Amino acid sequence: MEFWGNCLYPQVSCRIEGDVIGCSYCHCIRCRQFSAADHASNLRVDSQAITWQAGEPLVRCYKLSNQERCRNEFCSEVGFIFLAAGSLVHEISVVPSDHNCSASRASWSCFDHTLLRHDEYAG
Ligand SMILES: [Zn+2]
Repeated sequence: MEFWGNCLYPQVSCRIEGDVIGCSYCHCIRCRQFSAADHASNLRVDSQAITWQAGEPLVRCYKLSNQERCRNEFCSEVGFIFLAAGSLVHEISVVPSDHNCSASRASWSCFDHTLLRHDEYAG
């Protein structure tokens, strides 16, 4: 599978070549703050599968020092966040399977009760 993501600033884009390992909604406070939304729609892919096609010098990475998995790569010109499901240019056939950190869900968040729910991060 190959798919692309790009910023609103068209000079920055990436390609992901490989399978999506998983897709889930995360309601933890970090994901809500990173995405400025009620939850993040997170894709899990092998980091080796990602190549920057354009604008890599403009890409910055923010990683919390005490968190192994929690990091964001974003365009320094626009602030656009890459590698979230919403950053992809093309529709993908992966459907979110579960809600992570549902115990942290904001009371005003929309919520699909048909998916598996985990109070904490379950991967
Ligand atoms: Zn999260």
